[in-house]
Amino acid sequence: MDLSQLQQLIDTMYSEKDRKRGASGTFLWLMEEVGELAAAIANGTQEDKEGEFADVLAWLATLANVEGIDLDKAMRKYSEGCPGCGGMVCRCNEKP
Ligand SMILES: [Mg+2]
Ligand SMILES: [Zn+2]
Repeated sequence: MDLSQLQQLIDTMYSEKDRKRGASGTFLWLMEEVGELAAAIANGTQEDKEGEFADVLAWLATLANVEGIDLDKAMRKYSEGCPGCGGMVCRCNEKP
């Protein structure tokens, strides 16, 4: 599944609820899932972590949908190199 397919899937499953909830409520859900990911990393099994990574990504895609952001387009700035230094291998912390 690529980013566009992820956003389309989430849109099909949840868009009606998501539009009602709005960006602020969706952001709170995303943060709750980030907290669950933190707990899974601290104490969970690989299966727990996998589940929480999926939840965080799904809620990030939801928030992008609510805000009208195309994640594939947004990520182009990374596909062309590090946004800080332009390198395909980041050298931001190296002295000139
Ligand atoms: Mg979760
Ligand atoms: Zn860099």
